[in-house]
Amino acid sequence: MSTSTQLYQQYLEQIQKIADLRYASAVLQWDQETYLPPKGAAYRGQQIATLSETAHDWFVQDAFGQLLQELSAADQLDPDQKMNVTRTLEDYERQKKCPSAFVRKLSEATNQSFHSWIKARKENDFSVFKADLDTLVALKKEEAAMLGYADHPYDALLDDHDKGSTVAQLDPLFRALRIPLKNLLDKIKAATPIDNSILKQYFPSARQWDLGLQVIKHMGYDMEAGRQDLAEHPFSINFNNKDVRVTTRIDENDLGNMLWSCIHEAGHALYEQGLPDGQYGLPLGEPASYTIHESQSRLWENHVGRSEGFIHHYFPLFKEYFPEQFSHTDADGLYRAINKVEPSLIRTEADELTYHFHVMIRYEIEKSLLDGTISAADVPALWNEQYEKFLGITVPDDKMGCLQDVHWSHGSFGYFPTYSLGSLYACQFFHYAKKDLPQFEADIARGDFAPLLNWLRKKVHAEGRRYTSGELCRKIGGESLQPDYFLDYLLVKYSKIYHF
Ligand code: ZN
Repeated sequence: MSTSTQLYQQYLEQIQKIADLRYASAVLQWDQETYLPPKGAAYRGQQIATLSETAHDWFVQDAFGQLLQELSAADQLDPDQKMNVTRTLEDYERQKKCPSAFVRKLSEATNQSFHSWIKARKENDFSVFKADLDTLVALKKEEAAMLGYADHPYDALLDDHDKGSTVAQLDPLFRALRIPLKNLLDKIKAATPIDNSILKQYFPSARQWDLGLQVIKHMGYDMEAGRQDLAEHPFSINFNNKDVRVTTRIDENDLGNMLWSCIHEAGHALYEQGLPDGQYGLPLGEPASYTIHESQSRLWENHVGRSEGFIHHYFPLFKEYFPEQFSHTDADGLYRAINKVEPSLIRTEADELTYHFHVMIRYEIEKSLLDGTISAADVPALWNEQYEKFLGITVPDDKMGCLQDVHWSHGSFGYFPTYSLGSLYACQFFHYAKKDLPQFEADIARGDFAPLLNWLRKKVHAEGRRYTSGELCRKIGGESLQPDYFLDYLLVKYSKIYHF
């Protein structure tokens, strides 16, 4: 055995042990958001903090750093091995900047915040969460300072979710979206409104659950390598590519809420089930970025799930599940209902257009929290003011307003922009898939998702974390992110639906 091979073997052993800790911690987190009894929260926080701290400790050991340095100079590694070493060394240099004690402190603080967020939502009172949010923001500022940034502290956190993403890039991108989206929204507001009351009838929970599962299985979600549970805030999570779980939330008075959130989470899960085998715990076994992750969920949710072909194919099945509820409409009525555009309060239920205003509002608030322009106490008023300004709606209370998303309670600052970026990439990838697979819209209309899934597997999933979001996009389509794909797509879609 050559020295390089031996060193790589040592690297594998070490990094996979660290992965065991990280994924064990993820199992505890999954349990916390699905089944944990409330009184178990305190020790659960401690358990997760210990695992996070230990994983971090093992990762930033000087000896591991030395091993990575030696490996990056080794000449007998194959390209995949080299890539794993390069990405791990980047992670090492980044994580090395944060001491383990800080990682523990942050983990404990996020745990406490998560529970106070739950309590605040229950009591519909932001003030219950306010102090914990201030603590978290202070810690995130500290983290940004440790990680370093050129222009804005938020850049350091954005980089965690989408490598290379900065305020300097996102500000103009959001500016470029704001006016065309507002103009399109005005045209839609002037058109005859769509009646989506068929989706807002009574749909019994158990039937909804079964329908959601059936659809995600059709999409290709492997139930032998996953499972679905209920959660307050739907999410997907993986412990390796053979155990990728999804969660959903059921509102008995809104079928759309459950079904398109199932499709969304399954889109995330298909990505993780499609990550390469034999790369457990390694960068090539991980997703490219949060943005690319979101591109996969948004692609399935919107470009597939809200398409005419999909709705026409599934309408008979929906009718089988809910004969009475769908007795007075046809597939076209359902297609229009599920694509109704209307400013609303809840991001996860927003249509494809107004969704981005929700994201932009959060982006502006996060930036201001991080650069100290505002503090947690200012969030509710600013939130409500922005909803009035951009969406023209009045926020009735905190639960429907600034307490709706779990992200801040998790300490996830810099996550929201990936939702908009992901949607833009989704649109662009869908365009490329259509070019490569001329039949594939007809395939979707027949309920055959395999050609699209195989295309995504090959072009996106199989690459793991080899490329940044932008590099992956250029590799697939030969160009960088172009918001015009998305703007054109919306214009074509809605001018047909709203007749203008
Ligand atoms: Zn998502």
